[in-house]
Amino acid sequence: MRFAEIQGNEGVKRALAGMVDAGKVPHAILFHEDDGCGAVPMCIAFLQYLWCPNRGQGGEQLSLLDEPAEDALPDSCGVCPACNKISKLIHPDVHFVYPVTGGSLIPSSAKPTSLSYVKQWRELVLANPFFTERDLNEALGIEGKSSLISVADAREILGRLAFQSLEGGWRAVVVYLPEKMNADAANRLLKSIEEPPERTLFLLVTHAPEKVLPTIASRCQHIRLVPVRRPDAAPGEDEAEELELMGSLLESVTGKDLSAALEAGEAIAALPSRERIKDFLKYASRTLRNVFLVQQGLTEIAGASEEEMALARRFAPQLKRSFARTILPQLDRGAMLVDRNVNAKIVLCDLVNKMFVL
Ligand SMILES: [Zn+2]
Repeated sequence: MRFAEIQGNEGVKRALAGMVDAGKVPHAILFHEDDGCGAVPMCIAFLQYLWCPNRGQGGEQLSLLDEPAEDALPDSCGVCPACNKISKLIHPDVHFVYPVTGGSLIPSSAKPTSLSYVKQWRELVLANPFFTERDLNEALGIEGKSSLISVADAREILGRLAFQSLEGGWRAVVVYLPEKMNADAANRLLKSIEEPPERTLFLLVTHAPEKVLPTIASRCQHIRLVPVRRPDAAPGEDEAEELELMGSLLESVTGKDLSAALEAGEAIAALPSRERIKDFLKYASRTLRNVFLVQQGLTEIAGASEEEMALARRFAPQLKRSFARTILPQLDRGAMLVDRNVNAKIVLCDLVNKMFVL
């Protein structure tokens, strides 16, 4: 995966390449992306750039005769052995950690770690680099279960970092969804992130930066990826539906129309699957974060689509400043309950009620 294969976020690519060029690669970077917006491929392209001995402008090795184009983007060559191994996810010094749990694809007796699912992980990332959390759970055969990064996983990573790098250079650990680390695992990894072994790089990819353990988040350089529509995604029907549902929900709440609010809640509970309901709750969280940013006058860091920002701007003046802060944890709780097969109608009714009271 080269930078050139990732759409958008040119500024981020330049910044990452600039760190390598200047010899100032931080120990830990926390990428904040919206689900499925390509932070993992961005990490892979970055690591290729870090390792590639033939990096240059637009992937071509610079020759003294060629004047590089002003705006050509720095990139890895994409063909050398390092690029090859990293892009195939088989480089011995690049490790991936992601939330897992027991599932039908691995023997039930084993304590599952990321390594237990490395085959499924590689297949997924290679086939669909812009995967979502849901895609990952499907690929691992653990859809509908709650997964986490366990202390066993942290131990395994630290064990691998205890050795010298196998190919005599950098070592990297990509942690997908550090917010799903349990406290024990996080504390174990924290020490390495605080005082990393030499030439060791941690790349964290989060969908909910506020849920990453603060002691870890504070050790990282933060990079926000602007959402780019997934190349394979049809201009989302799901998305349009979420936008509409969220619009009618907020309208009824701000308009103090309880029966309309409950109706909106029922429409959400009637979405065709639990996954869709959870997706909606994530969408609602994003909307409320945007509302909060609009209220703080920080729209430029929201990184949301035009439609999403229009929605946030429309309701920001009518919602109390404490609204987002109070409701966000409730949305998470709602998603957790839906995940645990609690009746969605009850969960949504309760949520709508809480919003309404505010
Ligand atoms: Zn290369």
